[in-house]
Amino acid sequence: MHARSLLPLLLLAACLRSGGGTHAPEPGADTAAKRAAPTIDGAWMRSFVEAFAADDMGGRFTLDPASIERAAGVVADQYAAMGLAKVGDDYRVPFEFAYGNTVERAHHVWVEAKGPARALPPEQSATLSAAEETTVVADVVFAGPRATAKPPATVRDRIVLVRDPLAAGAAAPADNADLRALAERLAAQKAKALVVMGDRVPGADTSAWPLPVLALRAPAVESIAAAAGTDLAKLSAEKNTAALPGVRLSLAPRRTDKLERAVNVLAWIPGTDAKSEIVILGAHYDHIGTTERGLMCRGPEGDTICNGADDNASGTGMVLAMAKAMHAAGYRPRRTIVFAHFAGEELGLHGSKALANHLPAAAPFAGGKIVAMINFDMVGRLGKDGLWVGAVSTSSAWMPLLAEIGTEGVPTVFERSVTARSDHAAFFEHDIPVLFFFTGLHGDYHRPGDESAAVNFDGMTKIGTIALKLAAALGDGAAIPFTQPSEEEGIVTRLPGSDAKTIEKAPAPAP
Ligand SMILES: [Zn+2]
Repeated sequence: MHARSLLPLLLLAACLRSGGGTHAPEPGADTAAKRAAPTIDGAWMRSFVEAFAADDMGGRFTLDPASIERAAGVVADQYAAMGLAKVGDDYRVPFEFAYGNTVERAHHVWVEAKGPARALPPEQSATLSAAEETTVVADVVFAGPRATAKPPATVRDRIVLVRDPLAAGAAAPADNADLRALAERLAAQKAKALVVMGDRVPGADTSAWPLPVLALRAPAVESIAAAAGTDLAKLSAEKNTAALPGVRLSLAPRRTDKLERAVNVLAWIPGTDAKSEIVILGAHYDHIGTTERGLMCRGPEGDTICNGADDNASGTGMVLAMAKAMHAAGYRPRRTIVFAHFAGEELGLHGSKALANHLPAAAPFAGGKIVAMINFDMVGRLGKDGLWVGAVSTSSAWMPLLAEIGTEGVPTVFERSVTARSDHAAFFEHDIPVLFFFTGLHGDYHRPGDESAAVNFDGMTKIGTIALKLAAALGDGAAIPFTQPSEEEGIVTRLPGSDAKTIEKAPAPAP
């Protein structure tokens, strides 16, 4: 499960070529009808989750090569043992994605006042945020503390100059949270940019800020004030806003995206008479790493490894267990079934976006069409609140099909809304019907306590059984047309079950 809400859509995920032919096994003489129905092996799923979420796996952080490559290898080895088909010549399908950015120092500030524009010395400015490399040219207004707390309409279309809210020696927080909040207030009033007087340096993850933010050192601000016939002391005494007449600033922030590389792990069972129709069973296999090397893995437990047993060894194990069940039963679906394990989910759904946005030019994707995607993210903590099945609004056929399959006695909430917070979202963006299986957030979410000991393996077996029946129904060709959800249903940042308005069906409350 991805922690933040809507992500910057600046992603430059690119599928790398996967060459070579695919050697899918030929259909055998047996038909599915002659074979035993596929069944989920709960004991195997348990042993997989325990091993995959063990401390020695190191938290499976996408940007920690030793840990993530090992995890990808563990998953790929399972498919190799089954002999399932590869995409191209490897189960590992690499992709690139933009993550974080290196922001150049902004030697791109010009002051325009009574005469030609002059550039400020580069060492006097730093770009803190720059969503785009757009040049902003506008009049300047100074905002004092009252105006920064509640920006007036007069900041509209202006570059707003402020004293650093953390002035007087306070240490700047690494994430610039205070400035971000101010930038949001100013953006709501349609200001063009924020210029902070001070010594801030670019913080982490500032690419999605609502407007450009620059820091200018005191001498640069002095020269701007002087150009307007005032000085810094006078401006600093201002509680509300003060115009800087005759002064325009031209800001040209620059950013350079940093490309990272990771692999999805993909395997597939070819369909028979409807093989160009692809059903994806997917789960992310990455997590957030450790306190030393990871993404906000922290907790008071004294444990430094975020194991991600629920998030998402559980979904990884469930997708693998479905593949094993189908393989062991010799199940031959009419449609092609792809088992997809995504990296980069915790950093912003990068693996699923890479696949959904750039289908590999190899079988089964070349000439194929994805007709449905089922996502399993955090399916290991089945508790009294039951199972959530999200995104049922994405096909008018989902509810009747799910009703036919049943819930194995698991209390299940069917949710119409499509949350943006996990991998199905990347496929939904392409008008593909999706479902999201999820057992809810908990106190160990993104903390070292998300360990196998707390996983409900009986619950996983039941959910896996429901999912396997669903996958087989889709594999057998159940019609599943895409339906466009209403505005309030998709795509949303909230999680399934959090708004009664979009619940399609819920169990009757216990008496
Ligand atoms: Zn997560």
